[in-house]
Amino acid sequence: MNSHAIRVHNLYRYFGALKAVNGVSFEIPHGSVCGFVGANGAGKTTTMRILASLDYPTLGVAEVCGYNVVSHPEEVRRLIGWMPDHFGNYEHMTVVEYLDFYARALGYKGKERRLRVQEVMEFTDLVPLAERFSNKLSKGNTQRLGLGRALLQDPQVLIMDEPAAGLDPKARVELKSLIRVLAQEGKTIFISSHILSELGEMCDSLLFINGGRIVHHGDAESMKQSTDAAGGFLYDVQVLNSSDALSAWCLLHPKVEFMESRKNGGRIRIDSPHLVDAADILQRMVKDGLKITEFHREERNLEDAFIDMLGKIERGELAGQKPPPMPDTSAFNPPVS
Ligand code: ATP
Repeated sequence: MNSHAIRVHNLYRYFGALKAVNGVSFEIPHGSVCGFVGANGAGKTTTMRILASLDYPTLGVAEVCGYNVVSHPEEVRRLIGWMPDHFGNYEHMTVVEYLDFYARALGYKGKERRLRVQEVMEFTDLVPLAERFSNKLSKGNTQRLGLGRALLQDPQVLIMDEPAAGLDPKARVELKSLIRVLAQEGKTIFISSHILSELGEMCDSLLFINGGRIVHHGDAESMKQSTDAAGGFLYDVQVLNSSDALSAWCLLHPKVEFMESRKNGGRIRIDSPHLVDAADILQRMVKDGLKITEFHREERNLEDAFIDMLGKIERGELAGQKPPPMPDTSAFNPPVS
């Protein structure tokens, strides 16, 4: 087995002068869940469509389980399940007819086909909706249907473009638990989303793309534990005194900023990444008469980490992957017809 389920190396996709994907490289190991994050127009869908063999790269390599998406698209299509951000469904076709139609297209026959459609409907909880028209489903159930379609051929690699977009909180939780089950089954899942907090919970790694370039690839935990843009950390402090006493104390200490008042204390920012400085500040608070009942470092949420990262890029502090110089254009892959 190839060591990576997905490998992308120096991938470019230009639309005329627009550099939608501009020298992107990354690898996703088998059996892991990777979140793909970026602002609107960052290049997520374009990268995913290339991996799904639905578009050609201008240049570069994209592989699924060792198969190049340009030279071996049929092998790639047999290995992946693709869930696009929008997909058409047909009028007057019920849920079961819709899945049956795609199962036929995939080559399933007779009893095996009926069994597979039933399994997928059970997994996605679509059995009660089997006879409903597929184009009249709620957004959440439409996404279930899209996931069901992507799962029909029991893919090794699932590529999902914004599956949670437009879902209400309950439908998002349900989708998340389906994804968790698929991850436990050992599938490799590459999923794009704008809902960063949810991605953090289910992904082994997060891939950040900005302006067609990868700016970060790492695990969600290390991002949440990292400092803010100015090198500080937030702490939740609970006191038996009033919040005012805490904020007054902070005003007198230049390394500490009172950020927000809370029921029995507040949120403070310590201008240092070192725990020894936090311990020192705690000691001084106690010495100065603050009756501390709780003092702990807060995890940053991923939205904050992402916004910090974009700020660093704007200030030129974080360049992201440097695209290698574009080689001779005669090496380009064929253009899309
Ligand atoms: P979103 O989160 O809004 O879906 P995205 O990160 O998926 O954004 P892409 O859809 O990959 O972004 O688009 C990247 C850039 O490429 C955008 O500027 C988009 O307008 C452009 N683009 C995408 N497809 C085409 C196309 N077929 N022709 C011309 N430009 C395109």
